[in-house]
Order: sequence, then structure tokens, then C-alpha cells
Amino acid sequence: MFLGVTDAFTVLSRSYYMKQVLEEDKALFDEIKREKAILEQQKAELEREKQKALILKQQQEENKRQIEIEKAKRSAILKDIESERIEYERALEELERNSREIEQMLLALEKTPEGQKRLAHPWRGGFIYPVRGPITSGFGMRTHPIYHITKMHTGIDISAHSGTPIKAAAGGEVVFAGWWGGYGNVVIIDHGGGISTLYAHCSAIYVRKGQSVSQGEVIAAVGSTGLSTGPHLHFEVRKNGKPVDPLGYL
Ligand SMILES: [Zn+2]
Repeated sequence: MFLGVTDAFTVLSRSYYMKQVLEEDKALFDEIKREKAILEQQKAELEREKQKALILKQQQEENKRQIEIEKAKRSAILKDIESERIEYERALEELERNSREIEQMLLALEKTPEGQKRLAHPWRGGFIYPVRGPITSGFGMRTHPIYHITKMHTGIDISAHSGTPIKAAAGGEVVFAGWWGGYGNVVIIDHGGGISTLYAHCSAIYVRKGQSVSQGEVIAAVGSTGLSTGPHLHFEVRKNGKPVDPLGYL
């Protein structure tokens, strides 16, 4: 470096110059270092932003997935309700059909010589409750609270434990004792004068067709046979085969 240098001035100025170069180098070096640091920082920031965006995207996807699951669950529940509703409607339609069949049978019976005789001799006196218990459903039109299906309820429902004795509401002749579709085990008594009573969903039947029964006689036991959701007596009063409000007779 000092080769060929003869005077101190030159040496000094050269050393000064060198110092200048070194300082400039250092400044440049520092600047590069600073810029590199800034760049690193920006890169890290970018990386963090990228990471944040990725998390956000994952969250959005998870939310979407949850919504899909909820939607599927809800549609499954709706499908269940719909199939239950269809089942309930079918049950009511079967009961309606059975009710019309019973009406036809009672009308046909009225035309027989025995039926004519009974028609001429109406039951005198009132009716008694066949079973003691709360009336959970009355006679007339009723609408299901969930399915919103409105159908005629042809009798009254009296709540009672399974096996509770069912008494004849009045004296008369048993014109049917056995299974009848949605009514399950059913007993029908003709009281004369075109009036008959019907006792449905019985767990047991203690009388036969053609048998005479007196008022208060135990004819069957409460049950839940046929289309029934629980033990109760479905009690009907029929006038010339057509269901009428039992409370008008009790
Ligand atoms: Zn009923």
C-alpha cells in the first residue's frame, strides 16, 4: 500500500482517503444492513399476513362446514316429522274408514228381523260412564298441534290404566266383539231404538256377539290395541250407525 509513497503528505492524504473509503464503505454497509433488516421485517410481516389470511380461510371453511352439518340435521328432522305426519294421517284415515264400515254394519243390522225388534224397543234410562277417568279428548273436530291435520273424533277418550274394567253404559245386546282395524279390540252394544255404544282399544274382551248385557256389567278391559298411543277407552255413542256426542247421553 505504501509502496512508492515518498512524502508524509501523500501518506497522510492517502491514509485520509482510505479512512474516507472505509467510512463510506461502513455507511454503505450499514445502509444495506438497515435495508436488509427492513426487508426482513416486511417479509416477516407479509408472512404473518399470509398466515392470518390462511387461518381466516380455514375458519370460514369450518363455519361453512358447520352450517352444512346444521342444514343436514335440520332437513333430517324435517324428514322425520314429515314421515311421522304421513303415518299419523294414514292412521286417522284408517280409523275414518273403520268408522264408516261400522256405520254400514250397524245400518245393515238394523234391517235384520232382530235389528228391527231392537229398534222397536229402545233402552229406557240414562247411561253410566263405562270407565271413571279424565276425558283427554272430546267428540268433534280436532286439530293435531304439530301436524295441523284436522279430523273428526268420533267419540271421547277416557284416560285409564291398562286392565281397568269397562262397564256397559246401558243394557243391551252385544252386536260385535272382536278386532276391527284401527279400533283394535272393540265391543259394540245395541241398546235398542237405533242407539248403540262402542268401546275401543281394549286389552281384553269378556263378552260374545249375541250376548245380552245389563247396565254396569264388565264387558272388557282398558288397553291400547289398534291405532292408539297409550292406554285409554275410546267410547262412542252411535245413532242409526252415525257417531254422536257421548256427553249428550252421559
Ligand atoms: Zn278416541
